[in-house]
Amino acid sequence: MSVKLQDVKRQFAAVFGREGLGAVRAPGRVNLIGEHTDYNDGFVLPIAIERDTVAVWARREDRTLRFVSREAKESAVVDLAGPVEKGEPKWGNYCKGVVAGLLKAGVELQGTDILLAGDVPLGGGLSSSASLEVATGLALLAAAGAGAGVGGKMEPYALAKICQKAEHEFAGAPCGIMDQAVAVLGQAGRAMLLDCRDGTVRQIPFDDPEVVVLVADTQVKHAISDGGYAARRDQCYAAAKKLGVKMLRDTDAAALAGAPGKQLNAVELKRARHVVGEIDRTLRAVGALEAGDYRAFGELMYASHISLRDDYDVSCEELDAIVASARECAGVYGARMTGGGFGGCAIVLVRQENADAAAGTIAGNFEKLFNRRPPVFATRAAAGAETLF
Ligand code: ADP
Ligand code: MG
Repeated sequence: MSVKLQDVKRQFAAVFGREGLGAVRAPGRVNLIGEHTDYNDGFVLPIAIERDTVAVWARREDRTLRFVSREAKESAVVDLAGPVEKGEPKWGNYCKGVVAGLLKAGVELQGTDILLAGDVPLGGGLSSSASLEVATGLALLAAAGAGAGVGGKMEPYALAKICQKAEHEFAGAPCGIMDQAVAVLGQAGRAMLLDCRDGTVRQIPFDDPEVVVLVADTQVKHAISDGGYAARRDQCYAAAKKLGVKMLRDTDAAALAGAPGKQLNAVELKRARHVVGEIDRTLRAVGALEAGDYRAFGELMYASHISLRDDYDVSCEELDAIVASARECAGVYGARMTGGGFGGCAIVLVRQENADAAAGTIAGNFEKLFNRRPPVFATRAAAGAETLF
């Protein structure tokens, strides 16, 4: 954890005039491989990162929920006596969506004050939104005396689903389940293979002290982002329909190669080729990781990037530049864009001893091209959400 709990406790006391009764944390994530596969019922392989959102809470006497964020000016308020509706401030909708989901699941929420503080960059593709939702959910459950996880009354995956639904219905973002699932279920030193069809999880050892993941943030979000995501979803669903399968998960490269041009249009064929190839790469990457073969893993990362760039059309020059720089650095096994694309972050799998030099080279090259230095930080696979006290 990198947010300092003592600081957040102190701020809670300053804002609410009393001590916090409990605290939880939930991490952001990067996806090692398996991009744009989640909404095709495919596989993803994220890790929780060493950046998170902390929520300190204390119950109130009344039926009010008050959310204050260190990262936002305005607070968000919910009156538990009335219906939960989205509104202003916008960030509060992530919290309100979780409130609505917990109530619907039958949790008897109590009036609570919550102070949130995070160091996952907002809107940077590292899923600050899921970390906010999950931290909110766990804090509310704790305050209601109905914790999630071991000993709690709510199944961890059920909490992830509630958070995903919050993002769909209250924040208007049609995200897959990956972000919330890894925020809840991620483990230190493990990459999490998630089958997005049935929610089953396999934890893959990823704890070699000699290897780290660099995260380089382009700090751009190209305007096409929102519509581009929805368009690709639709193209995938259209391709699956024409291929006569439920989802692209249910087809394979051979079937695609045999799909006559009249069936899928050129764009659909490219999209399907990415998804089918990416699902295959993800499963092969798991094998490579289990064998400790980082070289093979890295090659799959590069291949993933090329597919996202050329077949899925979701990369951008900033992401391509980072991947190209990484290729030139000593000790680098592989690199790719991560997250939805059109900006956001790229990740680099690199030997620990070479990580600082690689980060410097990547940031320096980027600066020459784009006149600003992108933040680059190293992380290992961190723990998923947990109760702090
Ligand atoms: P990402 O999840 O990649 O960071 P999103 O656009 O999905 O990007 O979510 C970012 C949004 O989540 C922010 O604009 C803000 O509304 C909300 N958010 C996340 N963390 C916090 C926080 N600690 N305080 C307030 N809002 C937050
Ligand atoms: Mg998000």
